Amino acid sequence: MTTTTGTPRTDRLPLLVLGQGRDLASERGVECPGDLPAPSDPGLVERARAAKAALGDRLFVLGHHYQRDEVIEFADVTGDSFKLAKEAAARPDAEFVVFCGVHFMAESADILTADTQTVVLPDLAAGCSMADMAAIDQVEECWDELVEAGVADVTVPVTYMNSSAAIKAFTGRHGGTICTSSNAETALTWALEQAGDGGKVLFLPDQHLGRNTYARDLGRPLEDCVVWDPHRPMGGLTPEQLRDATMILWRGHCSVHGRFSVEAVEAARREIPDVKVIVHPECRHEVVGLADEVGSTEKIIRTIAAAPAGTAWAVGTELNLVRRLAAQFPEQRIAFLEKNVCYCSTMNRIDLPHLVWALESLVDGRVVNPIRVDPEVAHHARVALDRMLALPGETSKD
Ligand code: SF4
Repeated sequence: MTTTTGTPRTDRLPLLVLGQGRDLASERGVECPGDLPAPSDPGLVERARAAKAALGDRLFVLGHHYQRDEVIEFADVTGDSFKLAKEAAARPDAEFVVFCGVHFMAESADILTADTQTVVLPDLAAGCSMADMAAIDQVEECWDELVEAGVADVTVPVTYMNSSAAIKAFTGRHGGTICTSSNAETALTWALEQAGDGGKVLFLPDQHLGRNTYARDLGRPLEDCVVWDPHRPMGGLTPEQLRDATMILWRGHCSVHGRFSVEAVEAARREIPDVKVIVHPECRHEVVGLADEVGSTEKIIRTIAAAPAGTAWAVGTELNLVRRLAAQFPEQRIAFLEKNVCYCSTMNRIDLPHLVWALESLVDGRVVNPIRVDPEVAHHARVALDRMLALPGETSKD
């Protein structure tokens, strides 16, 4: 990795640094400092139940759809990132919100909950590789370069929920909004209106969601999109390319959804009679273009739940969710779209030993792994989140 002057960067190692403390190149920590119970302990389920019962109404457990079954079993509510953040905000009486998900989600929950509530992430190493693809100093550098190119004053940032609180705060400070995978079309329409004629959107950090929303959902030309590479001077773009573009897509992607391929869609259509392909909009544009249905995890669940018995699905989203859908809807024929895609490794960091450790610590009066966003950052991030909540037609479906 290099700076714009070509100097190698040592503070943005692409690898997970092992050891105590924090990985400064990442939005997450690097390890769990506690004495975890052994994964083989046969009493773990009972221990989790007992700790949860002991904490009673003081505790609220949130479980993201991509979490393991062993963790989802203890969730008071399941959902995707924004739904869970809103669920947390709707429980002002819960003293502790244990977030079984990844770091950026716990940050959003902390921003949206009261100061008297504590959000706990059972394993600090549960980050998100997509969120890590946009570091705040890179985003600030990008904005400075947009200023230099004379386009910053007509550019509105739109930032996907899957980003650090610092980048949400950047978005709030620059008049932009947050979006989720279910309201990206509304958010982008709003931002394009704000930007005005000849204006632009800087879409962070998932290039695929940005491109799919602009070209597929809004039906606008792909040629209006350019990709900003944070590792190259001026994003690897010329001033003319920047001036001509409407969508400046940050070069980030989901390590799971980015792997679903055109070949996998073609194989599913060849091998599964009458199959319907349903994928998440974090998938690549070519894959989304071939799918029958595209939507957030909440939409995927709703669509499959509403389909007639016997419908065959090839599903392109995280494997924990697809396996659960197959178990929940045995009357449907559900296949995982791509044989070479694994679970999301960071989502899977939250396992039963970490959950038991976090809950039993709370019972003992120790708060472990609290997620506390800096108040200044939280204030500006909240501005961007509130702009999203005020978008026309915003619902609680994501
Ligand atoms: S599935 Fe993708 S976007 Fe979601 S937490 Fe994992 S890496 Fe991040």
